[in-house]
Amino acid sequence: MKILVINSGSSSIKFRLVDAQTFYPIVNGILECIGTQRSKISCSIYNEKGIHKKHEEFLLINSHGEGVKFLVDYLHNRGFIGVFGDLAAIGHRVVHGGEWFKKSVLITESVIGRIRKTIPLAPIHNPANLIGIDICRDTFPSTPQVAVFDTAFHQSMPAKAYRYPLPESLYSEHRVRRYGFHGTSHQYVANRAAEFLGKPLSQLNLITLHLGNGASATAIQRGRAIDTSMGLTPLEGLMMGTRCGDIDPAIIFYLARVSGLAIDKIETLLNQKSGLFGVCGSNDMREIQQRFKQGDEQAKLAIEIYCYRIKKYIGAYLAILGRLDVLVFTAGVGENSPEVRLQVCQGLEHLGICIVPEKNKAKINSATEIQNDAGAVKIMVIPTDEETEIAQQTQACIQNSQ
Ligand code: ADP
Repeated sequence: MKILVINSGSSSIKFRLVDAQTFYPIVNGILECIGTQRSKISCSIYNEKGIHKKHEEFLLINSHGEGVKFLVDYLHNRGFIGVFGDLAAIGHRVVHGGEWFKKSVLITESVIGRIRKTIPLAPIHNPANLIGIDICRDTFPSTPQVAVFDTAFHQSMPAKAYRYPLPESLYSEHRVRRYGFHGTSHQYVANRAAEFLGKPLSQLNLITLHLGNGASATAIQRGRAIDTSMGLTPLEGLMMGTRCGDIDPAIIFYLARVSGLAIDKIETLLNQKSGLFGVCGSNDMREIQQRFKQGDEQAKLAIEIYCYRIKKYIGAYLAILGRLDVLVFTAGVGENSPEVRLQVCQGLEHLGICIVPEKNKAKINSATEIQNDAGAVKIMVIPTDEETEIAQQTQACIQNSQ
């Protein structure tokens, strides 16, 4: 039996078909640039030794609906799945589960209704996720479908961490609170760290740093998230590729007054034109590091702000955790930039965070420790794998419901 994972995002649909027992990939791919003349499917086809074939094709896909239909046909026509046969379940990534979903759930009409009610909190992502769910339910009516939420792992945060110091009515009437995102990734790397160290996650305190284009930090105490850096939306927290992260909210009113910018323009500015891109004109950390090496001052400043802000979150999370066992770096920058890891950890030796530059610089493809033996804190680089986490949670969910 197989599990199909669908991550129907704002402009792309990622998919992975895996073996339902081993979670080993069968096909892994992405359908990109939906709604343009150059939509493209790229996928890797696996055999027992690893990737044995790659396929790329340009297409014309006008909408997410068309995209999901195309993918289902693609997998069926090439014999990867039989329409009513060998799919044990379909796992869907859903960005926002609001306060309703504290873990993955089997999708029913009432679950769909709740995801729909959460659209105001994720107006771009949840509708795209729902399209994926609708089409898969129509095509595979007897196959269980599971929703895996980006917000669910953070639902264990206490009120003092998730509430804003704002009037109570904003929470009770509009659900204005901190939710957190990237939960699937934080949960995956936390589990991998525990597995690697041979300890139950329930005995570990961790800080997990997901540093991709979007970036977030999570404080995990005895296996449960107690705080995370993203808030009502993914805009809060760390400096990101194009998002500003924490800023004085009064900047918005000040900008509206002095520049006359409309509120939606300011929203675009903070989400798409700020962060690394805002400070140095690029959101690609590889390019920024290259420019830094050539003496570019803006690139240097962008990296300094980026690392400084991560360091401040580590300090804050150390304070609330009391004891830190593992610091995890993951996602594009976290997994691939020894320079960022070093700059973040430098100066934290007195807190037991002692990175070894040689271990840090080595090429890392799987969970690896990079700390000094004397340091109290394990520093780990762990490649994230949200699709495997979604497949595992999907499997657990259908087993529990039987
Ligand atoms: P997304 O949030 O889109 O999934 P990723 O996790 O793929 O993002 O991370 C994208 C970021 O990772 C980009 O800033 C990219 O420059 C950075 N990155 C990827 N490879 C490297 C590398 N070798 N060195 C430094 N940064 C890298």
